[in-house]
Amino acid sequence: MSKHDKIRELLALAAADVLTSAEEMQVAEHVRSCIACSNELEAWRPIASGLRRLPTPQSSSWLVQATLARAEAKLAEQAEHDWNRRVMIAVVAFAWLLTIASWPVFHFVSGRFGSLLEPQFSHTQFSNTLFSNTWISFTAFTALEWLAGGVAAVMLAIRLRGERRLA
Ligand SMILES: [Zn+2]
Repeated sequence: MSKHDKIRELLALAAADVLTSAEEMQVAEHVRSCIACSNELEAWRPIASGLRRLPTPQSSSWLVQATLARAEAKLAEQAEHDWNRRVMIAVVAFAWLLTIASWPVFHFVSGRFGSLLEPQFSHTQFSNTLFSNTWISFTAFTALEWLAGGVAAVMLAIRLRGERRLA
C-alpha cells in the first residue's frame, strides 16, 4: 500500500480529529505535497464538524436541516420561475394593449401626412395596394410598439426585481 493510499484512508478520521498525534503529523505532512488528499481533507471537514456539533439524541437534525435548506432553495427557485412567467405575460398584454390603443391615432396621423406629402400617389392608388400599404405600416407600427412596450416592461421588471431583492 502506497503512502498516498494509507493517508487517504485516514482523511475522514483526520477531519473528525480522532487520529493519534503521530498519524496526524503524517497526514499533515502528506497533504502539503498531495493536492488530491488536501482537497479530500477539505471536503471532509464541514461534514465532520457538522457531525461533531450534533446533540446526541437528535441525530437526524443535521439531515432535517439540510433537507429543509434544499426545499427552501427549490421553493425560491419555483417562485422566481413563476414570477418570470407572470412578467412575460404582463409584457405581452401590455404591448398588445399599447398597440390596439394607439393604432387608430397612428393611422390617422400617418394617413394625413401621407396624403399631404404624396397627394397624387394616394389618388391614383389601387385599393389593393392601399390595403397592403396599410398592412405594411401596421406591421412596422406593431413591431415598434412591441419594442417600446417590451423595453418599458423589462425596465420595470428589473426595477421590481431589485426592490424584491432588497425586501
Ligand atoms: Zn495523497
